[in-house]
Amino acid sequence: MVHFEKTFSEEIEMALEREKKKKSGKYALEIVIEQLRHDFENKCYICEQKDIAIEIEHFIPHKKGKNINLKFDWKNLFLVCHHCNNIKLAKTNYNQILNCTNPEHKVTEWIEYKLNPIPKLYVEVVATYLLENSNIIQNTVDLLHEVYNKENTPNKKGSTENLKKWIFNELTAFANLLTDYYSEEIEEDDKKVCYKRIQKHLQKTSAFTAFKHWIIYEND
Ligand SMILES: [Zn+2]
Repeated sequence: MVHFEKTFSEEIEMALEREKKKKSGKYALEIVIEQLRHDFENKCYICEQKDIAIEIEHFIPHKKGKNINLKFDWKNLFLVCHHCNNIKLAKTNYNQILNCTNPEHKVTEWIEYKLNPIPKLYVEVVATYLLENSNIIQNTVDLLHEVYNKENTPNKKGSTENLKKWIFNELTAFANLLTDYYSEEIEEDDKKVCYKRIQKHLQKTSAFTAFKHWIIYEND
């Protein structure tokens, strides 16, 4: 997870307010989807997959419309993938997790993200910090652990395996850039190009940014 900043515009809030008053109003308006794609860099805020089919999630469930305010609250609308949405919906503990749009929640620093390739791809998610009187970090760790490692039911076979393969490929490309950058044979111009590409990988616009940050944190 990485921090995202939500844009607050009167236009969106008013459009949602209008829908809230209708008998069967919709929150998945074009303007809402467009702004969410922009604010979340077209990434699932939970697993950090990028440019995939997305869904709108209610960070705090609206309980099938029973809480109409939560259903149409712009602050409560997040961008997720189908895989993460299903896993988060399944457990009530996951209603209380770190909020990646809250700058006080250090979603990248408070949780360590690591891909172990041997003997088979496995994502390690560990809390590095604990909040007093609160389980939200542990709940977030549990959710992420499931999202990356859950054994699939037969009809969904392969989805976390593919996700881990994608993380592996992305991190391998990133690690190769670091190796090139520190190589003694690299030319000065190539080194500059390499540096720019490393920077790009570390921006939240790239996929699986939290994993890449941890590669940097853990190395001299
Ligand atoms: Zn996801």
